[in-house]
Amino acid sequence: MIPLLAHTPETLHAALHAEGPGVPLAACRRAFHDLVGKGLPGTETRDGLSKASIRALEASCTWALPEIETTVVDDFDKSVRYLFRLADGERVEAVRIPLLKPGRFSVCLSSQVGCAMGCVFCATGRLGLSRNLATEEIIGCFLRVRADCPGRVSGAVFMGQGEPFHNYDAVLQAAEILCHPNGGAIAAENITISTVGVVPSIHRYAEERRRFRLIISLHSAIQSRRDQLVAVSRKWPLPSLAEAIRAYANVAPGRVTVAYTLVSGVNTGADEAEALAALLGDLPLRINLIDVNDTTGEFAQAPDAERRRFMDLLQPLRVPIVRRYSVGAAQNSACGMLASVTP
Ligand code: SF4
Repeated sequence: MIPLLAHTPETLHAALHAEGPGVPLAACRRAFHDLVGKGLPGTETRDGLSKASIRALEASCTWALPEIETTVVDDFDKSVRYLFRLADGERVEAVRIPLLKPGRFSVCLSSQVGCAMGCVFCATGRLGLSRNLATEEIIGCFLRVRADCPGRVSGAVFMGQGEPFHNYDAVLQAAEILCHPNGGAIAAENITISTVGVVPSIHRYAEERRRFRLIISLHSAIQSRRDQLVAVSRKWPLPSLAEAIRAYANVAPGRVTVAYTLVSGVNTGADEAEALAALLGDLPLRINLIDVNDTTGEFAQAPDAERRRFMDLLQPLRVPIVRRYSVGAAQNSACGMLASVTP
């Protein structure tokens, strides 16, 4: 059976033709628009679809959505964490994030159940990797959140559980569905993919000239320190990561965003700013700074004065430095806290 939510109209059309007599492209477009664009369930009530097309879709396709097990609202910032139960019993999360513009929301999506990258400050990393999410599961989570949303979903970020570039094909296909005008209808520049540095995938992303926003979570430009913060850094050391970032910078539409999760007393010093300047200082960077959200109490957030000092130390780079706020910390919904815990 073909998972309908894993396809754009064009790939669905090709998949159905590979399986049997096929369904006209116009009918695939219609089914896609109804299911993903409008979020209508099933195919029974489709206007504009021939009975033959409906029969063929029903005979060849599935379109089950994951069940919402729990929703957890953060009363402080109004973010909502959704805990999903997948068909095989695995659980994964997505977070609905209110944007500054009233009535607009972004959805933080997971790409894997757990994660293999081993960032020491991250609750998902401590779970280890259970499995990749399939495109239809990612889109299914998105559709569930959107159906529950009191406004318009105009953004999506792959910053939930998992390393998106460790599940490249499924995530990029999901991103294409999210930005398809008859699907999620989210502008490509409002879809963000965050990677901790899966070097081969960064090269591939650059070669494919994808147009989604890419953030590279650097956390440290000093090899020994990065090794301590991000286990996978030993697999793809900084010189190879810097080479991949350069390849991406050559084709990126704008500045290349690198992110630091700031840990007090660890990666906020002058040595860090100097190392970043030496590693990537010639590139048009944007630097995002995020407070660590450690659930173990082992890694402390940098106090305001420490963060401001680090921002001052970065000034010689003469690039935009943006402090990013993570919502949902009170409800284990923030960056680095997703571990499928129930309240
Ligand atoms: S921060 Fe991201 S890449 Fe690192 S362990 Fe957590 S989910 Fe994985």
